[in-house]
Amino acid sequence: MINFEDITNIEANIQQVSANIAEACKTSGRNQSEVRLVAVSKNHSPQQILQAVEAGLMQFGENRVQEARDKHPLLPENLSWHLIGHLQRNKVRLALKLFDLIHGVDSLELASAIDRIAAEEGLLPRVLLQVNVSGEGSKFGFQPDQLPAAMEELLTLERLDIIGLMTIAPMASEQDAVRPYFAGLRELRDQIQEQMAVGLPELSMGMTGDYQVAIEEGATMVRIGTAIFGKRDYSKE
Ligand SMILES: *Cc1c(COP(=O)(O)O)cnc(C)c1O
Repeated sequence: MINFEDITNIEANIQQVSANIAEACKTSGRNQSEVRLVAVSKNHSPQQILQAVEAGLMQFGENRVQEARDKHPLLPENLSWHLIGHLQRNKVRLALKLFDLIHGVDSLELASAIDRIAAEEGLLPRVLLQVNVSGEGSKFGFQPDQLPAAMEELLTLERLDIIGLMTIAPMASEQDAVRPYFAGLRELRDQIQEQMAVGLPELSMGMTGDYQVAIEEGATMVRIGTAIFGKRDYSKE
C-alpha cells in the first residue's frame, strides 16, 4: 500500500523554494544570482538526490563524511558537495577528497589539521569559518568576539582558502526573531574584512525555517533540506 504522506514532490518543492528565494532577493534589492541554493541531502537516498538533480540542482550538502562517501559512487560526478556538519580531525583527509567546500571550520585546531593535511595532499581547500552567533553551548563555532584574534592565526595557514563565514541560527517560531543573528554575522564579516584587508565574500546562513530572512540579511548560500526533500527519517539508523 502506498502511503501518500511519504511521497514528496521534490521538483515542486524546489520550484517553491526558488520562488521564495527570488522573493527574498526582490524584497532586499539583491540579485538572485548572488544566492546559491545548497540542497541538504543528509539522511536522504541517492534516488531522492537524483530527483533534485533532474530538477536542476547541482550542489548538495551532507553532514557526515561516511555518508557522503557511500553516496558519491551512486551519483553523477559533476555534482558539487558541501560539508555542512562538524568535521572530526580523523576524517579530514577523506573529507578533502569528497567535498568542494567545508562550511564548518569551527576551531583553530581543526583549521591547522586541515592545513597540514592539505599540504600533504597538495590541495588548497576552500573553507568557511563557523561562528556561534547565538552563544548556545550546544553549537560549534568560534565565538564572535574571539574571531578577529583567531583570524590573525588562521591567516597564517597557507593552504586554507577562507572564503567566508557560516552560522546556524537558534530555533525560533518567528523568522524575524533570528534576523539579528544573521545581521550579526554579516557585520562581523564586514568588520574583519575592514580590519584585516581580507575578502570574505561568502555568508552561509539560512535553513528551511529561516532562509528568507537570511537572504534579506546578506546570505550568499542557503542550506535547505526539509523544504526540498521533506522530513528526515532517522529511524533507519
Ligand atoms: C540539517 C542541516 C541543514 C538543513 O536543515 P533543514 O531545516 O532541513 O533545511 C542546514 N544546515 C546544517 C548545518 C544542517 O545540519
